[in-house]
Amino acid sequence: MTKKSEGGPAHPPLKPATRLATSGRDAGANHGFVNPPVHHASTVLYPTAEDFLARRARYLYGRRGTPTSEALENALRALEGPACAGVALLPSGLAAISTALLAVLNAGDHLLVTDSAYQPTRRFCDNVLRRYGIATTYYDPLIGGDIAALMQPNTRAVFMEAPGSLSFEIQDVPAIAAAAHAAGALVLMDNTWATSLYFPAFDKGVDLSIQAGTKYIGGHSDVMLGTVSANQAAWERLRDTVHTLGLCVGPDDIYLGLRGLRTMGVRLAQHHQAGLKVARWLAERPEIARVLHPALESCPGHAIWRRDFSGASGLFSIVFKPVAQGAVNAFVNELSLFGIGPSWGGFESLAIPFDCTSIRTATKWAPGGPTVRLHIGLEDVDDLIGDLERGFAAFAAAR
Ligand SMILES: *Cc1c(COP(=O)(O)O)cnc(C)c1O
Repeated sequence: MTKKSEGGPAHPPLKPATRLATSGRDAGANHGFVNPPVHHASTVLYPTAEDFLARRARYLYGRRGTPTSEALENALRALEGPACAGVALLPSGLAAISTALLAVLNAGDHLLVTDSAYQPTRRFCDNVLRRYGIATTYYDPLIGGDIAALMQPNTRAVFMEAPGSLSFEIQDVPAIAAAAHAAGALVLMDNTWATSLYFPAFDKGVDLSIQAGTKYIGGHSDVMLGTVSANQAAWERLRDTVHTLGLCVGPDDIYLGLRGLRTMGVRLAQHHQAGLKVARWLAERPEIARVLHPALESCPGHAIWRRDFSGASGLFSIVFKPVAQGAVNAFVNELSLFGIGPSWGGFESLAIPFDCTSIRTATKWAPGGPTVRLHIGLEDVDDLIGDLERGFAAFAAAR
C-alpha cells in the first residue's frame, strides 16, 4: 500500500505530466519534505560484523547508490513506463552511450550504427570498440526494414539516433528494431532529442534507451549527466557493467537532474511551440532553401515522426541557398539572443554553423548549401524572430 505521504504513483497508468510531478518521491523517508536530501556519501556503517559480512543493508556503499540517486532513477523509470526494468545514471551523455555499448557487446561482435549518430559516438566505436575487436558498420538512417540485409551472423547490436542531432533524419525505429530482434541483436537508441516524453522508446522496440541528461532533463545548462533505461532483456547486463566499471554521478548533479526533470514537460511544450513557429517563419525566408525540422514535411522521415512521436523539441537546422560561408558566419555573428556554443536543451537559444561532410561514411552529406543548427530556448519567440531578422540583414550586407 502506498501511503499518502509517500506520494508515489498509486494508480498507473498516470499521464506523463502527473508522473513528472509525482514519480520517485518518498516523503515518508524524507521527514515529510517534498524533495530528497543530497547525500554526499561514501562509507555506509553496518550495525554488526554479521551484517557487514552478509552485506545486509539497504545501501552498500556510496558508489552503489544513495537515496538521492534512487530518487532520480525511480522518477525516470516511472516516466519510461512498465517495460522499463531499470535506469542507470552516468556522468555524461557520452558515458551513457559508451557504457550501454560496452554492456551489450563482446569481442568478435559486429555492431550497426546509424550514419547520423552523434560524432563522439562514432569516435567511441571507431577507436575503443575497434581496439577490443568489435567491428562497426554505419548505415543510412532512412534504411528502415532493409537493415535486415546488413545483419551478419555476429551482429549483436543496432544503434539508432532519431532524429540525428545535426541532420534530423527520423528513423523507422519499429521496423529497424523488428529486423534487429529477428536477427538476435539488441536495439539501442539515443533518445536525447525527443526524450521519453515525446518518444516512448520501449513501446517502439528499443531495449536500451539513452539520454544526455545534460540536455532537456537538466534543462539549465548547468549539469553534465547521462541516463540509460533498459528493459528486462538488457537491465542485468547494464547494471553489472555500470557497477564493474565503477561509474557513478556526484549527488549535486543528480539533484540538479531531478530538479530539472520536474519541469521538463512544460519546458518541452514551450520548446515545441516556439521551435515550430520559428521553423515555419524561416521556411518562408528567401535566403533559406530548406528547414530540417521533423515536424515539417521538408524533413527526411517526417511521416514517421507524425506516426511515432508525440512532439518536437527546440532543436532543428536550416539549409541556406548556395552562398559564401562568410555571409552565413555574418548571420550567426549578428545574433544577440542566440549564443554560439555546443550542447543544447537549456533555457537559452543557440546557433552554430556545421558541416557533416567529413563525419558521414555510409551516406553523402549534400544539403545543397551551408547549414546552421538552432536551439530555440525559452525567450519570447517574437524577440527571437526579431533577432533572426537582424541576422538576415547582416547576411545581406555580407554576401
Ligand atoms: C550532447 C549529446 C550527447 C552527449 O551528451 P554529453 O552529456 O554532452 O556527453 C549525446 N547524444 C546527443 C544526441 C547529444 O546531443
